Amino acid sequence: MYFVDILKKFIAYYKPYKKVLFADLFFASLASVTVLAYPMLVNQITNNAISDEGIAIELVVKMVLIFGLLMVVEYASNFYTDYFGHVMGAKIESDMRNDLFEHIQKLSFQYHDNTRTGQLMSRITTDLFDVSELAHHGPEDTVISMVRIMGSFFILVNINWMLTLVIFLILPLMLIFAYHYSIKMKNALKKNKERIADINSQIEDSLSGIRVVQSFANEEIEMDKFRSSNHRFLESRKSGYRVEALFFNGLTGFISFINISVVIVGAILISYNQLLLTELITFLLYINTLIDPVKRLVNFTNNLQNGVAGFERFMEILAVKPDIMDAKNVTVLSDVKGKVEFVNVGFQYSSESNYVFSHINITVNPGEYVALVGSSGVGKTTLCSLIPRFYETSEGLIKIDDTNIKTIKLKSLRDHIGIVQQDIYLFSGTVKENILYGKPGATDEEIITAARNANAHEFIMGLPGGYNAYIGQRGVKLSGGQKQRISIARVFLKNPAILILDEATSALDNESESLVQQSLEKLAKNRTTFVIAHRLSTIRNAQRIIVLSDQGIAEEGTHANLIKIDGVYAKLYNMQFNPVTL
Ligand code: ADP
Ligand code: MG
Repeated sequence: MYFVDILKKFIAYYKPYKKVLFADLFFASLASVTVLAYPMLVNQITNNAISDEGIAIELVVKMVLIFGLLMVVEYASNFYTDYFGHVMGAKIESDMRNDLFEHIQKLSFQYHDNTRTGQLMSRITTDLFDVSELAHHGPEDTVISMVRIMGSFFILVNINWMLTLVIFLILPLMLIFAYHYSIKMKNALKKNKERIADINSQIEDSLSGIRVVQSFANEEIEMDKFRSSNHRFLESRKSGYRVEALFFNGLTGFISFINISVVIVGAILISYNQLLLTELITFLLYINTLIDPVKRLVNFTNNLQNGVAGFERFMEILAVKPDIMDAKNVTVLSDVKGKVEFVNVGFQYSSESNYVFSHINITVNPGEYVALVGSSGVGKTTLCSLIPRFYETSEGLIKIDDTNIKTIKLKSLRDHIGIVQQDIYLFSGTVKENILYGKPGATDEEIITAARNANAHEFIMGLPGGYNAYIGQRGVKLSGGQKQRISIARVFLKNPAILILDEATSALDNESESLVQQSLEKLAKNRTTFVIAHRLSTIRNAQRIIVLSDQGIAEEGTHANLIKIDGVYAKLYNMQFNPVTL
């Protein structure tokens, strides 16, 4: 992305804060001007107030009063920039963070399949800190530095142009040094960011899998992995601090060199009667008003590079187009009958990988109960995940009630599809919050009806706190069957026309299986249902069974028909129910 584009995007974020920004720049300039005035006052006192005739009290009092007034102006201005300027930076950062999170939520399964959550977390959190610093200090420091450099340059030349020349002979060397080191600093800081992102991913991974870690008693292995990424972070910080120390002390060295050179040349000029001692003192005071903003500018280039690095990482994600989104003229589904049609559908997960299936043609009538059967990895889950457009078909199209799903508003499409899977994801929170997820804003009666339908009401009432019981992260405080029944209640509440049941009972023991099975049968009533089950007993009464093989649809029919033709299904069925005995 071009720098100009990045800059434009960046500037756009200032829009809501225009007033604060201008006030900030105004007060920053005001503070800079007051700083320029101080050495002038000192000069007045040393030159005119103190002389061989004594001290001119009146003048001293006047100067001190002006001094005091300027200080009040300076501190008040600095207060404004320090407080409101920083707050503006933080607000911009927070706006960017909201935009980023909103965007990441829209990115497709395909994107999330290939991205580590921890890396995204670090982009949403820490990377943007630097951007806020830049947002605040960027314009402010530029203005402060310009005012001060120009002002003090003008004053210095006025005092003595030869001494000014001395400074400007050394200054370019200092800037070359600063430039060289600021690049090194940028690289070091970028490395720090990558390392902290690694640590975040590692924490996310190890802690999400803490049960697996502990059950394999592999804490040491996880600790080793963590130790080594933590160590790499430490190393990169070390080299960062080394560059920083060299950089800042080098700068201080240059500044001392400038001061000493000015003193030497000044002494020579005094001895030739080209300069007054008081002028030399004032000059020395002004060197700092000149050097200070130069240091600030140098610092700012660091801020800039750091912030730009963060902003670039931010823009990188914003630039990822959600590959699944609403088309231009979308239709909103209303009164869905639930006819689902696959027309010549083919799918591959990426352009490099093989087709999972192709030329799939299926028409499912409203309210029909269809089972998908086939060996593991044949593509049953994948086929179903195309209906809510979790992934986009690579070939062909899918229609719901004769409308191509690509022309349906995504939210509307997904509102009409309910999914119950084998691995259930519940959010940390209460039972009620989790069921409500199916229809935010539902009444308590609706929630309880849904829970009853899902055979969940009884056990929920037995929990401490009932519907307000906290279920732990991902619902760890519940048994597998209980979690599944809550996830079914969630779908009951959603009340979709189309239902996908993907191995919903596979992970359960016999007792909870029959409870879950009962509620699933209730759920499927009057809805178009796709059921995937490896226990063929549960799908025997499906209206239609579709058998998938690597070649696509191998067979299709009722249980009785498929047994009669004695093909793939019959073989699978016999394997489960009449194991061959020797
Ligand atoms: P089934 O549900 O029939 O067991 P799946 O639909 O889960 O099979 O998987 C079909 C094929 O697609 C498998 O070969 C699997 O490795 C692959 N696959 C599944 N999910 C993904 C994914 N997110 N990215 C890439 N390949 C995948
Ligand atoms: Mg599957």
